[in-house]
Amino acid sequence: MIAAAIDTGGTKINGAAVDEEGNILKKIRIENTGRTGAFIMDAYRKILRELTEAFPIKAVGIGAGGRIDERAGKVLYAVGIYKDYIGLPIKQLLEEEFRIPAAVTNDCRAGLIGEKWKGSAAGYENVTGIILGTGVGGGVIDHGRVLDGTFGGFGEIGHMILHPGGRLCTCGQKGCAEQYLSGTALWQIYNEKTGSESLSSGYEFFGRIQDKDGIALEVLKEFQLDLASCVVSCANLLDPEVILIGGGLTDTADYWWDGFTAYYRELGNRHTQNQKLIRAARGNDAALLGAARIAFDLYKTRHHQ
Ligand SMILES: [Zn+2]
Repeated sequence: MIAAAIDTGGTKINGAAVDEEGNILKKIRIENTGRTGAFIMDAYRKILRELTEAFPIKAVGIGAGGRIDERAGKVLYAVGIYKDYIGLPIKQLLEEEFRIPAAVTNDCRAGLIGEKWKGSAAGYENVTGIILGTGVGGGVIDHGRVLDGTFGGFGEIGHMILHPGGRLCTCGQKGCAEQYLSGTALWQIYNEKTGSESLSSGYEFFGRIQDKDGIALEVLKEFQLDLASCVVSCANLLDPEVILIGGGLTDTADYWWDGFTAYYRELGNRHTQNQKLIRAARGNDAALLGAARIAFDLYKTRHHQ
C-alpha cells in the first residue's frame, strides 16, 4: 500500500509518496509563500493531484501547523501568522475532493511519529519529543500512543514559561521556552545583546560561533542551560524512557550537544539520570514518515470496521 504524506513547514510544504515499509518513493516541494489557509489548501491539493496521478494512493496523512482536532481533522488554534487558517476543515475538504481517508496531526507530532516508526526513537514506547525549529514544538508518546489533550495541545513544550517576565512570545505570554530555544531566538537574542541588527538567520549565528565570537558563545551557553532546564522539567513531568531532540536546529547539534547533556546531568535528579537523550535521525523526512504512518493507520481502521 502507498500513502501520500504532507509536511507543512514554515517556509516549505513537502509532499511524498511513502510505502508501508517507510520507503519514500517520490518527493515534491512547494515554497510556502502565501501563508494563508487558502494557499495551504491549494498546496495540499497540488501535491495530492501529482501523487495520485503517479501512484495508487490509498490514504493521505498531513502534518499541519497549530493545534489540530485530530478526530475532525480541523485546525483549532494557531498563532496569527496564517490568515484564514483557524477553523480550516482540512480532512473534510481533502476527503470530499480526493475520496481517500485523510488523517491530520500537528507537524511536530508527525515528526515524532516518524522518528518512532523509522528513526532514532524506534523500539521505545514512551518518548517525549522536543522539536527545535523556527519555533519550538513537542509531542508525547505514552505506551505507543500519541497523547492529545483537550484542545490538541498536549506536549506544547514551547510555551512552558522558562523565564517569567522574559521575551514576549507569539502566544501572548512572556518568557516561553520558544523565545529562548528556537533557531530564531538564537540570532535575535544575539542582536538584542549587541544592540544591533547584525544577524538575520540561525545560519549566520552559527557562523559567529565558528568565529569564536564571545557574545555568540555566551548566547549559546545560555541556550544549552535553558534547553537542559526545559528537558529536566519534561523528564520529571512526563516520565519517558527517552527524550528525543529534533528539528532544524539539530543540524548544528555538534556545537551544543555535549554542553547541553552535561548541564542536563548537572541539573537533574536521580530519576532523570535514567532517561536517555537522543537526537532525531531522519531530519526533514521524519514528519513525512509520520504523516504517512497516520494515513496507513487510518486506512486500516476504516477497512477493518
Ligand atoms: Zn508562548
